[in-house]
Amino acid sequence: TSHHLTDRHRAALPPWMPLSYTDALEIVSGRGRTVRGGDGRDYLDFYSGVAANMLGYDVPQVREAIERQLRTGVVHTSTFYLIRSQIELAERIGRLSAIDDPVAFFTCSGTEAVETALLLATEYRRSRHVIALRDSYHGRSFGALAVTGDRRWQGAGLTPLSVDHVPGGPVRADAGEDWVASCTRRLTRVLDDAAGPVAALIAEPVQGVAGAAPLADGQLAAYARVVRERGALLICDEVQTGWGRTGRLWGYQWDEDVRPDLLVFAKGVAGGLPLGGVVGRRDVMSCLPMPSVSTFGGNPLSTAAALATLDLIEERDLTTRALHTGRALRSLLTGGLHGLASVRRVQGRGLLLGVAFQDPATAGPSAAVARAVQEKCRENGLLVGLGGTTGHCVRVMPPLTVTDDEVRQGAALLVQAAREVDQ
Ligand code: PMP
Repeated sequence: TSHHLTDRHRAALPPWMPLSYTDALEIVSGRGRTVRGGDGRDYLDFYSGVAANMLGYDVPQVREAIERQLRTGVVHTSTFYLIRSQIELAERIGRLSAIDDPVAFFTCSGTEAVETALLLATEYRRSRHVIALRDSYHGRSFGALAVTGDRRWQGAGLTPLSVDHVPGGPVRADAGEDWVASCTRRLTRVLDDAAGPVAALIAEPVQGVAGAAPLADGQLAAYARVVRERGALLICDEVQTGWGRTGRLWGYQWDEDVRPDLLVFAKGVAGGLPLGGVVGRRDVMSCLPMPSVSTFGGNPLSTAAALATLDLIEERDLTTRALHTGRALRSLLTGGLHGLASVRRVQGRGLLLGVAFQDPATAGPSAAVARAVQEKCRENGLLVGLGGTTGHCVRVMPPLTVTDDEVRQGAALLVQAAREVDQ
């Protein structure tokens, strides 16, 4: 039946929606960190759906919050009315953002949230010039694609934005201060050469789709300083790095003295339900010239689930837990993969990790090896993602609730898969 379903998928959905695995997988149920496939097998999910099932599956408190809302009979109501859970969530995210005098706006996805941030920044600064990082991913709308640092989208004349790309994370993990200094010089030049004001720099603190590639220590802080000196805004895209995943509540907190003007969030915030948004400085958030609403953004179901999700993150201190389980997972992977000719490195922060693979013959990045490892992991009962600028990374992002046992189990399965492929 999975073949039949795959045929129907291929016929009814567009070819640019890739399916993982040669034998495509249907997920039929889930509990904790384990999902059951349509093939009747259980899998340990170390990709959290696609990094959005942040607490795992069938989490009682989130389910109860959703059920409570369902029982009211209202899954949608207009944002022209007061939505108690939306107001409470805006207040709470504002407090958590560490932005002075914050205001929050809700969308249904990361893309829309990025688009909103770009709209606000360009309106506020009266400039269509935005700076973004190479190898970044920000979504799939015109604006979000324009800032996305993938060469395949650049130069396509997609948007009224004018975009410059500056370096993202370093190629070498030990790049250090020289790297930061040279990247910052590059950014300074772009800002100084600009014909008019620059609206903003948009940056992921750890580049998720690029394979969990972190910026170098101090890089975001140095960028933020230069941008601020010239009056441009800093937009942190925390769609993957937010809510404790990196072992800090926000990825930007890995550097000292960084304070985004606008912070973009989505993915895990509502325990798997669609919710994204922007939280930012009141003056910037207030600058749109006319009313602008989102029909489903901040709907009562998603915001109720988000409040329950945030309760759990705080009650169980899942941010600190992600720091510790992330360290354990990383060291198990680093140790277990050591010496394999096809492994380049293990990278990331907290529970946002990536393993970069290479072709042992050429030492060039290899998407084929990464795909083979992902496939082997699935055979062994583990789900992981793919990423990297050339698709050469396996991405590892288990739910923040992952247990120590599951960390050991998942690491062992991934190491075993990589060893099998390496032979
Ligand atoms: N920004 C980042 C950093 C992302 O990783 C993603 C999604 N992978 C997006 C934006 C877009 O989010 P969505 O898919 O919810 O539109």
